[in-house]
Amino acid sequence: MIARATVLGAPIVDGTAGNTMRVMSLCSPAQFVSTQIPVPTPTSGELLIRVTACGVCGHDLLAASGLLSAENGAVLGHEISGTVESVGSPDLTAWLGTRVALVQRRSCGECADCIAKHTSQCRSGPGFYGDDIQGGFAEFVLADPRNAVAIPDNIDGVTAAFLSCGVGTGLRALRAAKLEESDVVLVTGASGGVGLHTVQLAKHFGLRVIATTSREASTEALMQAGATEVIVDPTVGKIREVAARLGRLRGVDAAIEITGAPLFATSLRSLAPGGRLVLVGNVRPEVLALDPGLSIVKELQIIGSAHATREDLVEVVDLVASGSIHPIASRVFALNDLPKAFAALRSRSYTGRAVVVP
Ligand SMILES: [Zn+2]
Ligand SMILES: [Zn+2]
Repeated sequence: MIARATVLGAPIVDGTAGNTMRVMSLCSPAQFVSTQIPVPTPTSGELLIRVTACGVCGHDLLAASGLLSAENGAVLGHEISGTVESVGSPDLTAWLGTRVALVQRRSCGECADCIAKHTSQCRSGPGFYGDDIQGGFAEFVLADPRNAVAIPDNIDGVTAAFLSCGVGTGLRALRAAKLEESDVVLVTGASGGVGLHTVQLAKHFGLRVIATTSREASTEALMQAGATEVIVDPTVGKIREVAARLGRLRGVDAAIEITGAPLFATSLRSLAPGGRLVLVGNVRPEVLALDPGLSIVKELQIIGSAHATREDLVEVVDLVASGSIHPIASRVFALNDLPKAFAALRSRSYTGRAVVVP
């Protein structure tokens, strides 16, 4: 047991100093090993977070497979909630004991992107959990007030873990799609964590949602989340038929493309003239074939949408605290069972988001 930090003037004494913590570190492609490493020490401006839960996301699958920047020994996990255990400077003492949800990237707060509030584009700060800095498949992580948002008592720690990635990603994508009430939006890959919550958000904003999935067993959950129609194993024909039934004879107003390569062409061809395709997911990183003629003639827009900012996360916390959105943690695994959580994600054996708890 690590003693709670005590305030003894500047800098704040870190009650965890010299202790070790348990992490799950990457030991070869898609394999993890339980390891003890030193608890990180917060420096000036930093918060030490005792992790409550960490979501398991498709991004982690890519990282664990060696397709991103993470190398052997990396501690992945970027969907983190926890409690502020100690702080690195006296100006942060008000954070001690605060329950927080974290944005997955720690930004610098000073570069042109940060000043313009495009913090997901910052490349001067500590970086992205798991890719650049130690992630949340651990007992502790470092954070700072630029990526931490306090959560109210009516949001539990398991839910808080994936509010930024699992919910904020969809919020940002829907905003990028420039939709108006009663518009018809296509959400692909809808049974995953981002997809399921994008469906909930779209419903909340008064949109009509065509959700697609390869998983028939997710149909009921997607209808409960607010889908107007669910299509299993979508094709352009099936999507356009449903869109026509909803009064969109020339296709959907926008598509939130959460799969990337598998359904990009299908989503693009399902758009009405002037339609927007927002690229969010990238389950199989590869170059996409784009039909220039189709895009030109129909004046389509293809928009990339990155991860949530702190402002997005604050909005998500408000939506959840007020009961407008009900995030769903489908599976909860112990941290040591991280390989089981990955296996479950790989086999798509559940709807929504799974988390691990230390
Ligand atoms: Zn994620
Ligand atoms: Zn910056």
